[in-house]
Amino acid sequence: MTPPTVWSDLEPLLPRVAKPVQYVGGELNARTKDWDAADVRWALMYPDAYEVGLPNQGIQILYEVLNERADALAERCYAVWPDLEALMRESGVPAFTVDAHRPLGAFDVLGVSFSTELGYTNLLTALDLAGIPLHAADRDESHPLVVAGGHAAFNPEPIARFVDVAAIGDGEEVVGDITDVVRDWKAEGRPGGRRELLLRLAATDGCYVPSLYAVSYGADGAIAAVTPADPRVPATVQKRTTVSLDDWPYPKTPLVPLAETVHERASVEIFRGCTRGCRFCQAGMITRPVRERSLQGIGEMVDASVRASGFDEVGLLSLSSADHTEIAEITKGLADRYEGTNTSLSLPSTRVDAFNIDLANEISRNGRRSGLTFAPEGGSERIRRVINKMVSEEDLIRTVSEAFGQGWRQVKLYFMCGLPTEEDADVLQIADMAHNVIRAGRAASGRNDVRCTVSIGGFVPKPHTPFQWAAQCHPDVVDDRLRQLRAAVNGDRKLGRNVGMRYHDGKPSLIEGLLARGDRRVGAVIERVWREGGRFDGWSEHFSYDRWVDAAAAELEPLGVSLLWFTTRERTREEVLPWDHLDSGLERDWLWDDWQDALAGREQDDCRWTPCFDCGVCPSTGTDIEVGPSGTTLIPLSVVGPGSRGAG
Ligand code: SF4
Repeated sequence: MTPPTVWSDLEPLLPRVAKPVQYVGGELNARTKDWDAADVRWALMYPDAYEVGLPNQGIQILYEVLNERADALAERCYAVWPDLEALMRESGVPAFTVDAHRPLGAFDVLGVSFSTELGYTNLLTALDLAGIPLHAADRDESHPLVVAGGHAAFNPEPIARFVDVAAIGDGEEVVGDITDVVRDWKAEGRPGGRRELLLRLAATDGCYVPSLYAVSYGADGAIAAVTPADPRVPATVQKRTTVSLDDWPYPKTPLVPLAETVHERASVEIFRGCTRGCRFCQAGMITRPVRERSLQGIGEMVDASVRASGFDEVGLLSLSSADHTEIAEITKGLADRYEGTNTSLSLPSTRVDAFNIDLANEISRNGRRSGLTFAPEGGSERIRRVINKMVSEEDLIRTVSEAFGQGWRQVKLYFMCGLPTEEDADVLQIADMAHNVIRAGRAASGRNDVRCTVSIGGFVPKPHTPFQWAAQCHPDVVDDRLRQLRAAVNGDRKLGRNVGMRYHDGKPSLIEGLLARGDRRVGAVIERVWREGGRFDGWSEHFSYDRWVDAAAAELEPLGVSLLWFTTRERTREEVLPWDHLDSGLERDWLWDDWQDALAGREQDDCRWTPCFDCGVCPSTGTDIEVGPSGTTLIPLSVVGPGSRGAG
């Protein structure tokens, strides 16, 4: 039976909250399917505000993939702000989807995509508002299956008590497999109840069911073993890998937001995975191997998504977009196609060493020369060898000089502070680099108004990276280094006045570190923080460091561990890590050797251009590096005439 919409109860509350339009749905390209015609109904949640969640590519891809199936439907939901949460509680309005405003509790599956661990408390708000028991163990057949995905799901142990399943790896295919399992189990009359459903899912590639594994701890507080609690459950769960991106050209029809969002553009993922080997980068490590979309595939997706959305910007996404083997053809082809229209291109992620001025000129042909962004990540050559980000200051200065000479006026540089082996001197060299950028910019442009903005984030060691064993730097040290850096930047007033600095204090990074490398015991901390009002922890105005510190002390210290035990402690090679039974494809021994290379300042090349160095991914996932040239072109596709928007 179709569940009643909550709209009539929700609507009177909306004039009393900020940005009510974010809760109404009905965006261009949104779908609302017939409830009764679907066998399996998914609610897809992005656990952050609409303005962050709506552009999320993962959710948009799964939303389309699921809605294209005749036997499934998918609706979206985002985290509600505390003002609406309070009114919903007062009025008894349950958590809802923005598409048809159906209660979350009525769906078969609640899929939650975690890009960052700081969204965990927002999942608890949604479960509670939906009337779904917080703990997976308390749910029965009447409750949705709670499935976590996204990069944070590669260590779901801190949220193990709240989720039924963690889907590890690429989502396009596993959502279909989960749908099949749920559909068949329902059609068979739900044999064996929820436990049988979980057992069937545990036998599905890429699906990890935490409740079917037992964790024991040793006297030192570390994990002794993680063992399957049922003989039918695999000892390790391997991630899913979508081999051919051309077979999955999603999203085809991007959602056009009703309210302001962080990105308002059509996005086309031009390749997935990265083998550059930056040792801090979890995304690069867990998405290997590199799989490029063909020129033809990219051309068709850009055309389709611009037509379907009317967006005037197309983002060519990946972890390092200029590394696509045919990036020059892609940018020239698209710039030719949209010449004279108001459709512009952007490459949101570009490395200094893959960047060249021709590429930048093509990208900006129909757009503005706003600013160039690079991420050297480390201030000194030494620390850049440690993190395997092989960008020389010389290359950077040469690149920015060329750019300033061609009319660019601003460069943004991203760095991290608190990296393994880092000392004050490594961070202080960021000031020299910024000063050198200004000097080079003034010389190349002949102007005094060039700008360099330095953005710095606190480093958080992440699972499935060589730094998974590293001690996280204490926030007091990070904050002190950043104070010294500010003084060094401003030490030369003539150069320093053209340098902007952006950084937050190191405290949220420590909590992110707890959630990233925590085990099941950290679940109690998350729950306590949430019960004490923790919401939107990724937002500085909502984040409370003290609330997390107090909750960690209350929940962890009686167990003989602590916030600092989980974060600032270096692990040994022998220690069982909470995510060791989840297989990202990377060999543990290779990761350890890469960690030792980091400590010795030894670099590792990119296997796209050098022989395979046996990280383990290709053999273990049955895949291979997939790079061009693809032998295809961007033609034939509709040629857009001057003055046209390019949108049908
Ligand atoms: S297995 Fe070899 S080729 Fe494949 S990603 Fe790892 S290093 Fe590169």
